[in-house]
Amino acid sequence: MSTKVVIVGASGRMGGALARCIHNGAVEGIELAGAIDVWDAPGLSKDVGVASGVGEMGVAITSDLAAVAEDADVLIDFSFHTGCAENARRAAEWGKAVVVGTTGFSDDEKAMIQEASKRIPVVMAPNMSLGVNLLLSLAKRAASALKGKGYDVEIVERHHRRKKDAPSGTALGLGEAVAEGLNWDLKQVAQHGRAGLSPDDRPLEQIGFHAVRGGDIVGDHTVIFAADGECVELSHRATSRDAFAVGALQAAAWIAGREAGLYSMLDVLGLD
Ligand code: NAD
Repeated sequence: MSTKVVIVGASGRMGGALARCIHNGAVEGIELAGAIDVWDAPGLSKDVGVASGVGEMGVAITSDLAAVAEDADVLIDFSFHTGCAENARRAAEWGKAVVVGTTGFSDDEKAMIQEASKRIPVVMAPNMSLGVNLLLSLAKRAASALKGKGYDVEIVERHHRRKKDAPSGTALGLGEAVAEGLNWDLKQVAQHGRAGLSPDDRPLEQIGFHAVRGGDIVGDHTVIFAADGECVELSHRATSRDAFAVGALQAAAWIAGREAGLYSMLDVLGLD
């Protein structure tokens, strides 16, 4: 049986990648039931396949989520943090599963999505690629192996010039994974950027985040464990948005029909 999905944020970069991957049959058993964007989006009322450059798919981009959700199993949301949290709240009212790819949420918006996940299944991951989720798992393992052995942790991410949030949701997710491995509270130890003169040495109990923005970089992440005399670096480089789109479609196929709850891509991929 196929899983009927709605792309939310269909005119955007990820919306286009999702349409392309559905058109190419990248994940088996996915059927496109709708494509949604805001009322003044550039691609509104165009066929989503035409808008993304793969040719007619028979689904026009509209702004009426309630109308298309009715005939869908899963909403795949790659839009903007404010609208996405509200979309999750509405999906919970309609009993539709949601894959949340959007990043940059405030604590209140995260709480809205958590609330929705009490009524519907939600997969939420700041990065849907298999490679990054493997990196998350490796970073946590490395942190726990190096705990108490004098390694400073810094996380460097690089993205295209149009990315709105910084640091990336993936960098924060990597920070959470490392903090978990070290038994630290990320909020207490996160240091965003560094400038000027500091009278003191870098505190050991700190995780530094550095966000580079430029050109069309799809997304690079490196976790650095630096000690006296050596440095371990774990890196991932995305070369195309298709890696995220394929992961999101796998999540949609996995989540359809599951119990209500908040799931991660580690659950979908069976990694820990
Ligand atoms: P984009 O700006 O190219 O596209 C976002 C689209 O969403 C736009 O067309 C916009 O008009 C639309 N939109 C905004 N609010 C909306 C709403 N309320 N309802 C419907 N549509 C709405 O951005 P993008 O590069 O495609 O990224 C989208 C989001 O996905 C960002 O938060 C980004 O950080 C995140 N992202 C996540 C992953 C992942 O693997 N989880 C990968 C890439 C990007």
